[in-house]
Amino acid sequence: MDGTFGMKKPTIWFANEDFHDADEPYLPELFKESFHAWFEDAQDLDVCQYGVFRLYSRSASFYSTEPRNQQQLNSANWDEVMNRLANQCIQSESYTVLLEQNVQYSAVPIRRRKDNKMFAVFVSAVNKEHAISKAELEGYMKHYRVHFYRAFESVFVKEIMLQKSMIDKEATHRERLFLISKRLYDQIDAESVVREMLHSLEELYQDSKIHLYLSQDHLEGDSRVRPLEFRNSTNNIVTEAFLEGKHCIDRDQPGYIRLAIPMNGKQAAYGVLCIEINRVHWDESDLPAFMLIADTAGSAFENAKLYEQSNMLINELRIINEMTKRLNQSLRSREIFQYATAELLKVFNADYCCVLQLDRKKNEFKVRASNLESLLGKAYANDYGFTGIVYRTREALITSDYWNKQNVSSELMEDTNSRSLIGAPIFVDGEVAGVILVTHRQANYFSYDNFKLLQVVSTHIGLAITNASLHAEMHKMIITDNLTNLHARHYLDEQIQRKQRVDMQGSLILVDIDFFKTINDTYGHQVGDRILIQVSAIIKSSIRNGDIAARWGGEELAIYLPNVPATRAVQIAERIRMRVEHETDPKVTVSCGISEWEMSHDKISVESLFYRADMALYESKKNGRNRINIG
Ligand code: GH3
Ligand code: MG
Ligand code: MG
Repeated sequence: MDGTFGMKKPTIWFANEDFHDADEPYLPELFKESFHAWFEDAQDLDVCQYGVFRLYSRSASFYSTEPRNQQQLNSANWDEVMNRLANQCIQSESYTVLLEQNVQYSAVPIRRRKDNKMFAVFVSAVNKEHAISKAELEGYMKHYRVHFYRAFESVFVKEIMLQKSMIDKEATHRERLFLISKRLYDQIDAESVVREMLHSLEELYQDSKIHLYLSQDHLEGDSRVRPLEFRNSTNNIVTEAFLEGKHCIDRDQPGYIRLAIPMNGKQAAYGVLCIEINRVHWDESDLPAFMLIADTAGSAFENAKLYEQSNMLINELRIINEMTKRLNQSLRSREIFQYATAELLKVFNADYCCVLQLDRKKNEFKVRASNLESLLGKAYANDYGFTGIVYRTREALITSDYWNKQNVSSELMEDTNSRSLIGAPIFVDGEVAGVILVTHRQANYFSYDNFKLLQVVSTHIGLAITNASLHAEMHKMIITDNLTNLHARHYLDEQIQRKQRVDMQGSLILVDIDFFKTINDTYGHQVGDRILIQVSAIIKSSIRNGDIAARWGGEELAIYLPNVPATRAVQIAERIRMRVEHETDPKVTVSCGISEWEMSHDKISVESLFYRADMALYESKKNGRNRINIG
């Protein structure tokens, strides 16, 4: 290595450079400049005192030295002859000489230094006595050519220097922009994207004022970020930039330029970047950089927003998933409503929540759950307040400020001083079965996303309620005997066990139809079934709500009377016995056995309670049937 890193010395390097055919348009300027420069150099030569020299381009336009006086050349038409000779030389591309009226004209081609291509001709006109030789003329021509190439090289160098400084400027710009874009894309939330962009711009253009007008969000506590308002006329170019989607420049301000650039993402415009730059520092060529930053910020902002949205979506799914699981575990509507209330308050960070259930018979909504104690159990007509609207429209609703909405009166909103509300219907089997209302004291509190989430949650509450009522129905089916519509035996067992834990006493009546085999044999099984149903109906209508009647075996029925002593049970059994005797058709009679338990006595098991009643029943049978006996 020679230590110059392969770079040639400038002079040698330039000597190898030449202009190209494509540079033709720039030649006249070069010819003019270099011809003058040559003449400056050569004017003191004798020959210049009495001769005329001209430089002809290939298109035959020329640059000329002037004879000192018109008499200097001994011919009147020397100008015309010079033109002619120049043309001849251009055609022949070789030295041409002519003597006419005592004037010697000679012309020599000027060739490019690299490929010897002729690009102009050098012509002289002198009186015969001063005639110049071919070698002399070529000497002058070569002298001129030195000046030509000097001019060319200086243009060439200027051009290169200019290009280089532009490239340098571009490169640093690009480098900074690249860094800015990278930093912008490194931000994962929209707020940081905005701050990073403003920071970068302030760093790049230190003498400027920068504002960002956002169409949807605005950043709390950053005075540089403002909401985009369409009414404000001072922001004309901001609005225009947003609506047109392209940059606008206001040059009418004293001392500075205002520039508005839309911040566009791929899906939407998010705002407008507004920059005020001192007129002195404004460089039009910086515009693309601003636009690039705004565009980059737009995309980064959009990315961050999408990321936030997908995070929110994931969060919502998680909430819904958890709530659904919990809701479906619950088989009691009251529990479901209470859980939903607590969760919704938490998820929305809301002030109040209330779940109302429709009572179809009374046409009113009853508050089933709420964190506002005073509302619990209250009932409202089904056309009252926001619940009424949700019920009528079957749709969710959102109210951003109750204080501005005087056409609806709402106790919930009044009592709690709430201003924001979201509400949604709870559907069960396609009908509105309830309404959820969630409120907040702040106006404009709930977002559209909150509103959508409430709808999803209310759907799940509806499903959970449907599930619970299906379950309740199934449970009833399981504990009910199909034929008699009395309870099933296992239910009776469970209930007695439960009651024994909480009650002080209770009685059990066993009822057995007399000679039922004979009834079956005489009238057939179907009639026997009908008798069984008749007897069951008599039992049901002879006891109170809390009493439990069950089919204990084939045609044996049992009645448990909580908190009733045997003495009272006898009266009830007697009423049943009499009614069966008088009301059944075909007529049957029943025998009864009664047993009782009391807390103060030894506790007896359900089995022994039945055993004792069974024994008493056996006694009744033995003593002639259609009678009652206490065990
Ligand atoms: P007793 O007075 O001693 O009770 O005489 P009984 O014929 O009723 O004798 P028992 O109670 O032992 O007989 C039960 C009969 O009841 C047997 C069966 O034919 C009839 N039975 C049991 N369950 C049903 C039923 O669901 N439908 C009909 N039709 N008959 C039943
Ligand atoms: Mg029997
Ligand atoms: Mg019987």
